[in-house]
This record gives sequence, structure tokens and C-alpha cells, in this order.
Amino acid sequence: MYLNGERLAEALKKAKREKYGLIASNVAHVTIARAVIQAADKVGADKIVQISLGACEHVAGQHAKATEVPKIERLKLGAKVLVNTIKEYADFYKNCGIGIHLDHTPPTDENLQFVDWLIDNKMISSILLDASELPLAENIKATRKVAEKAKANGMILEGEVGRVLGQEEDTISAETVYTKPEEALQFVSGTGVSMFACCVGTNHGVSKGRDQELQLGLIKECDDLLNANGLGHVGMVLHGASGLSTETVQAALATGAFKFNKDTQYQLDWAGVMVDYSLKNYDMIVRPFHTTPEEYMEDKKRFDPRKIDALIEKAIQKQAEFMINEVHAVGKSSVL
Ligand SMILES: [Zn+2]
Repeated sequence: MYLNGERLAEALKKAKREKYGLIASNVAHVTIARAVIQAADKVGADKIVQISLGACEHVAGQHAKATEVPKIERLKLGAKVLVNTIKEYADFYKNCGIGIHLDHTPPTDENLQFVDWLIDNKMISSILLDASELPLAENIKATRKVAEKAKANGMILEGEVGRVLGQEEDTISAETVYTKPEEALQFVSGTGVSMFACCVGTNHGVSKGRDQELQLGLIKECDDLLNANGLGHVGMVLHGASGLSTETVQAALATGAFKFNKDTQYQLDWAGVMVDYSLKNYDMIVRPFHTTPEEYMEDKKRFDPRKIDALIEKAIQKQAEFMINEVHAVGKSSVL
């Protein structure tokens, strides 16, 4: 079932109260959207499906880009396609609550125009306005403005202070900037966000925990400080959560993180299935050396893209079920 902003806020409060996590999965493909929603339905969990500026542009297509359709129009086209697809699947399945979230969005004029359009049309449940590149006072000012408008339209906002290492869309951070608890308090009380991205040393992309100096204690410090100041309803978000070990994910959950962002893991699974399938079925489309052109025939039964797509869907659904299990969210959906 699709969760609008108000219902997502309730689902997040329930998760925080009952100490389980919500997996937030980035999607740019129907297959991944379907797989992660099916996983949530199968195990009875709530989940957040995330779109991004890059995903919207990708879905808008290469032709629109080549013919110089303005970026704002391409973003709107991509968002409509993705959001409508996600909502259809979400409403079809009754054992899960599905929120739709716009990931990292820096406050450029064009992006703000897009965000205004999303809010005016009540397209999605929540947005991460990412003004973390700006000095704190400006970050607060930019985030508050969008948070107020979102709230007036029944949507919620995520904000960020600090910086997550690695590349997310066009933003590249060469170093980790850890969130300071006193800045978190200043930011949350000054903006009215419902979700706060705490930078604790994880990174966007493939890491497997290597070369990371995780300071998970910061999540608890931020959470405790917010709780002590009457902001206990605000939840902590962990970015760059792909590739973390089960121990680390559960340690983060125990310190107060409740939204775990996952993107890279699905990309790896997708590529893994493609490579594996291609190696095993090379002769479906390439003539083996020992045969003659007369003997050889491509095999339609094996190169039908639906065949590979179904394997990708299965692998990603399995991965998504594992992630939900890892954050103790099985059977916890707010719609059950
Ligand atoms: Zn992120």
C-alpha cells in the first residue's frame, strides 16, 4: 500500500518506537522497483522506494536529452514514469507500506523548481533536500523553507549535516565530514525535518567496510541530544549502507539509526546476474568456434531479455528480503 507523507511519518515513528529499521532502496528500473516491493510484501514490512535526480533523468530517456528538452521537463517526465509505476505496484500489494522518497537533492534553482512541482502535485511522501555543502546557517535556511512547504502539503523532509564519502549522482565527496551532535540539534530544531542524515563514516558506493572509520556512537549522541530536547520523533538516517556487515547494520540500528539507504548492492546484484548468465549462455548469440555458420543458430529461448530480467528480479528480491530481515522489520508493517 502506498504511504503518503503523513502515513510514512507514522510508519517511521512506529519503527523508531519498536526499534526496527526501514530499508530505503534506490530504483531507476521497473525490475528493481518490483523486486523490492515484492520483498516487502512477502515478509510484511514497510519500505521506502527512492528515486533520484539521476534516476528521473535516466528514465526520461536519451532522446529527450539529445533533443535538448530542458532538464526540468526531463526530471518531471522521469518522475511521473517512476512514481506512477511504484504506486501501482505499492497499491497492488497489501502486506507492505511503501513510501516514495526523493534522494539527495542539492538546492539549485532548477532542483528547487522540481521539488516545488513534486510538492504541489503531492507526487511523493518525502524528500532529502541536501544542502550539506553550504555553511550550517545557510543549510538550515534552505532546508527550513522546503520543510515548511512540504509539511503544509502532507509531505516530510530529510536533511543532512556533514558529508558522506564517495559519489552520489553528480556530487563527489573526497572526504568524510562527521556530523557534530550540537550541529544536529541546531539543524533539526531550526528546520523541522522528520529524518536526519547523520554522517558517521560510511560511504556511497562499494566499500565492504574497508578503509572506513565508522563512528556509530555519533548516531546515539545525536539521537540522545534530540530526545533530550523534545525532538524524539526525528529519526536518524544512515547513508551508504550497502556493503556494511550484518554486525555493523545491527550496531547502527541499536544506536538509533532507523532508515538504511541501499543502492549499490542492487547494482552489484544486477551486474552479477548479467555476467553470470552471459558467461554460461555465451553461445546463445555468439557462434562457437567449433561450429560452422551453417550449423549455428542463435537461441531465442535463451536471449529473450525477459529471461534475464526474471533472474535479476529474483536475485534482487532475495537480497531485499535479507536486508529487511537484517533490520528486524519482518512482520512489522504499519498496514498489517
Ligand atoms: Zn546518500
